[in-house]
Amino acid sequence: MTARSIDGKAIAARVRAEVAAAVKTLHAQPALAVVLVGDDPASHVYVNSKVKMTAEAGMRSVEVRLPADTAEAELIARVEALSRDPEIDGILMQLPLPKHISEARVLACVDPLKDVDGLTEASAGKLVLGKPGLRPCTPVGCVMLAKSERPDLTGANVVVIGRSILVGKPAALLFLEQNATVTLAHSKTRDLKMVCRGADILVAAVGRPEMVRGDWIRPGAIVIDVGTNRVPAPEKGEGKTRLVGDVDFASAKQVAAAISPSPGGVGPMTIACLLRNTVLAACERRGWAVPEVLAAG
Ligand code: NAP
Repeated sequence: MTARSIDGKAIAARVRAEVAAAVKTLHAQPALAVVLVGDDPASHVYVNSKVKMTAEAGMRSVEVRLPADTAEAELIARVEALSRDPEIDGILMQLPLPKHISEARVLACVDPLKDVDGLTEASAGKLVLGKPGLRPCTPVGCVMLAKSERPDLTGANVVVIGRSILVGKPAALLFLEQNATVTLAHSKTRDLKMVCRGADILVAAVGRPEMVRGDWIRPGAIVIDVGTNRVPAPEKGEGKTRLVGDVDFASAKQVAAAISPSPGGVGPMTIACLLRNTVLAACERRGWAVPEVLAAG
């Protein structure tokens, strides 16, 4: 068997097109503020592409770029100002923050109605309670990719490896919302390989390059690879690197029915879901009806 490659780029482009269509029907242009502290090159690349895609979706983008030595109090003041600003609909804190700043204290200052990353306590609480709210972007992207292969997840055995607040834990809850039977595995899970082999849908969010091998996968399973790991690539030249997922793509594709590659799978979905959340946040806060094109997802 050779697995289908789940085309995250194409699915994300469709979501972004829906967002752009939705924006055209709104009474005003939603605005997304992106806050970046420091000069981590990868973070700058992510922020640049978020800014570009926000504009392409017809929304206003506000960038706040601060130096690495910004004091926590200064950052909190900036975030509080964005939270108060009636013209701002979404606030995205680009993580990680420099070590001297507490991510928890900064995120606590994001107005939950503008929490397009779904990372505040209010958003996490709504997810646990099953109440409507803004959901974390990467896990929503994982569910969308899984549903592109299996639209009805009812009763599916889903194994999520990784229990981070950013990915694993919310992913498990979102699959539960889809009536899947969910196992949340982590570094203390016994016999992880056997646990994974029970999965109809296997989500790897670990941060360990190519840890999940083909013999961990049930024949015919759907595999969603969240991992993005930079590894040395001497074949490209001295000091060069390449990105790989948490799944060993070559052996996994011999066994799975479908697999999302990394890069090119979950990554593009994260940005698309961020844009989608910005429209949903604008509608909720401004009392607009959610455009039909987004209401179903
Ligand atoms: P994280 O906070 O480091 O969490 C990793 C999780 O994996 C932890 O729960 C940890 O378990 C578990 N784990 C570590 N080693 C393990 C092992 N040997 N066996 C089983 N479980 C193990 O990472 P994260 O933020 O969730 O990110 C995970 C990966 O997704 C990373 O590669 C990251 O770059 C990628 N990512 C991609 C996107 C995207 O948009 N594509 C977005 C976010 C993250 P314990 O809790 O027991 O320590």
